[in-house]
Amino acid sequence: MITFDQLVLASHNAGKLKELQAMLGGHVRVRSIGEFSDIEPEETGLSFVENAILKARNAARVSGLPALADDSGLAVDYLGGAPGIYSARYADGLGDAANNAKLLDALKDVPEEQRGAQFVSVLALVRHADDPLPILCEGLWHGRILFEARGTNGFGYDPLFWVPERECSSAELAAEDKNRISHRARAMAQLKQRLGL
Ligand code: IMP
Repeated sequence: MITFDQLVLASHNAGKLKELQAMLGGHVRVRSIGEFSDIEPEETGLSFVENAILKARNAARVSGLPALADDSGLAVDYLGGAPGIYSARYADGLGDAANNAKLLDALKDVPEEQRGAQFVSVLALVRHADDPLPILCEGLWHGRILFEARGTNGFGYDPLFWVPERECSSAELAAEDKNRISHRARAMAQLKQRLGL
């Protein structure tokens, strides 16, 4: 078990910081990378794991503190795992609607049984910048890609992601329900376990 009284989160997203602080409770103070640097490292890895580790190491380096980073995205079986680590910029940075349109087009002739996909969330925790043994947690959320968008909640690929256990799209789930069963929830639960919380 790792013990420390504060860590830095390698994200400028205030929502993620709040979520993590709530999970860690009074055990650990969570600080934002924004307190230390505004420069984001280039995500040069080829996998979620590599990019999460790279971001965690960078955050530990600029802050001198243990650091946690996450990397997430959508991996579609038929596309060999694409858009994967490029999920946010699949349609060249044109945003969620363009990403979804591109995905629907890439799968337009693909039958339902070959439309399997998973949302992926990887968390990497390093005790210091050169930590040779990062803690890695992986959350997978299996579903399949719909033929058209459904629902208006959530963000990103949620309207195209069919959730078999709820028989609706991820964008038709209430936020609280999604947060209980999603890839991020699964990775976070693992992290909690690994930290002995
Ligand atoms: P981020 O690195 O967590 O910001 O996520 C990278 C990209 O993956 C997002 O911009 C979305 O396109 C996609 N993504 C990750 N998680 C989700 C999700 O829960 N719903 C929909 N899209 C997601």
